[in-house]
Amino acid sequence: MADYLAMGKAELEKEREALQRCYEAYQAKGLKLDMSRGKPCAEQLDLSNGLLSITDTHTEDGMDARNYGCLEGIPEARRLFAELLGADAAQVLVGGNSSLNLMFDVIGAGCRDGLGGTPWDDCAHKKFLCPAPGYDRHFRVTEYYGFELIAVPMLESGPDMDCVEELVKDPQVKGIWCVPTYSNPDGYCYSDQTVRRLAALSPAAENFKILWDNAYMVHYLGDGPQQTLNILQECARCGREEMPVMFCSTSKITFPGAGVAALAAGPKTFAALTRALFPMTIGFDKVNQLRHVKFLKDKAHILAHMEKHKAIIKPKFDAMQRLLGEGLRGCGQIARWTDPEGGYFISLYTLEGCAKRTVALCREAGVVLTGAGAAYPYGVDPRDSNIRLAPTYPAQAEVEEATRLLCVALRLATVEHLLAR
Ligand code: PMP
Repeated sequence: MADYLAMGKAELEKEREALQRCYEAYQAKGLKLDMSRGKPCAEQLDLSNGLLSITDTHTEDGMDARNYGCLEGIPEARRLFAELLGADAAQVLVGGNSSLNLMFDVIGAGCRDGLGGTPWDDCAHKKFLCPAPGYDRHFRVTEYYGFELIAVPMLESGPDMDCVEELVKDPQVKGIWCVPTYSNPDGYCYSDQTVRRLAALSPAAENFKILWDNAYMVHYLGDGPQQTLNILQECARCGREEMPVMFCSTSKITFPGAGVAALAAGPKTFAALTRALFPMTIGFDKVNQLRHVKFLKDKAHILAHMEKHKAIIKPKFDAMQRLLGEGLRGCGQIARWTDPEGGYFISLYTLEGCAKRTVALCREAGVVLTGAGAAYPYGVDPRDSNIRLAPTYPAQAEVEEATRLLCVALRLATVEHLLAR
């Protein structure tokens, strides 16, 4: 192989022919793989089967978990999530099976109630900051509620804070989405300086909110979880404890879709949120909350449990890293990719203008990746460069096969792109 960027037209044509043959050989294999979403594999789900045989019905203070009531969640579950989130249990609400659902409701509450200021819906125009690439479903929530989505460049240290500090001077900007630990999709962790600068923001909107989604806080692939600074504590230090709302869930600890989610916020925001949730539900699934407390016990046990997840998924991440290196070596600077210490994704960056074509080539050979552009507001990557890779769900051999195909697809897309210049 030689540097594609240094190749002349004739060499590129020759390379395209060779790659086309190689690609067709993959097509002939009739692969059928889905790497589009960050889902745990069956072996990971099996780690939590112990949950299914827990039949406790009463909480530590004698409450019948099978019955209505207790909107904020059962006390032992609030304590468990307080320990995880680093918040006072009195400011923790334990919800249902989805943190995204809680985020949706918090944005809804901001729109209607205002959470400490003018309801966002009363403003003629409202905007939300979206560090990009980021989690597509976050962006969807704020798009659904009628916000203009403002992309903020995502750096290795977190959102570009120079940009954020400038943008929050606009009173129409009502909040920012954050995935502080092992971000989706880059796997970056916010630096201490980023967290401190976020906490020190003085936004023009009096009820500006930092939506702090710590979905991957204990999902490490290295020696232990990254200790990202606690936004609630940092904001309190700056006298702005009502600015953040923290979220997490057990979706990728136990069962996605059948886990437990939680949030934490400053006292006034917490009170406003419970008021806003009151008309919506009499209470969340406390039987599942109780089961989770019995099964997960405390943070130390959760970390021991996450070590088992790591043993299953780290070889898949390692294989993907190795095969990307092997499959793209010697082609010049046609791609770069992240090597995260945790989370569920590897972020691959192609030359500008090659991501969509690469994803399409993979799909036509039977491997479904997350749609190119999905990690950007409105699903549009202005550079058409980012591809989110999710290696956890397929079997090891499938991850390997899919990555080999991906390298061929990316090289072919790159050569086509260079020829079309
Ligand atoms: N936040 C992030 C950053 C995620 O990646 C995901 C899952 N892909 C979620 C939230 C969804 O969490 P839940 O299952 O708790 O709704």
